Amino acid sequence: MERTFLMVKPDGVRRKLVGEIIRRMEQKGFTLEAARMLVISRELAEKHYIEHWGKPFFEELVNFICSGPVVAMIWKGHDAIALTRRMVGHRDPHQALPGTIRGDYAALKTENLVHAADSPEAAAREIALFFNEASP
Ligand code: ADP
Ligand code: MG
Repeated sequence: MERTFLMVKPDGVRRKLVGEIIRRMEQKGFTLEAARMLVISRELAEKHYIEHWGKPFFEELVNFICSGPVVAMIWKGHDAIALTRRMVGHRDPHQALPGTIRGDYAALKTENLVHAADSPEAAAREIALFFNEASP
């Protein structure tokens, strides 16, 4: 059993896709362990996306992620980190396959509905950031 961090971004909340995203995760067999709706502060956004600091899209990304409420979640399941990334789909809308969340619902580079942790280290770090658990 593995825990992963999945977040519905502000566009997903605005477009009323929270239920659809949770439905897909439950249907896959994953278990929702915790969920929290919040408006991300600039400070939290910069910590969350620290790996992208200095990139040309960083400012746009931080502004977007702070632009409205998000739904942050912890999901549990077998190989949850890698399998959730597959369900989310590619960041590039031209490469996100139909059947994935982004492939089915997103067409833009920044506004792509969801964030999912991409490694065990990222999952632990992001869960700690959003759920105030002690860092590993
Ligand atoms: P992922 O969300 O699939 O892990 P990345 O970690 O590469 O993708 O990027 C983080 C987020 O930054 C993306 O989900 C997207 O919202 C935004 N982003 C990435 N690359 C670009 C880009 N070239 N232009 C605009 N936004 C981008
Ligand atoms: Mg990423």
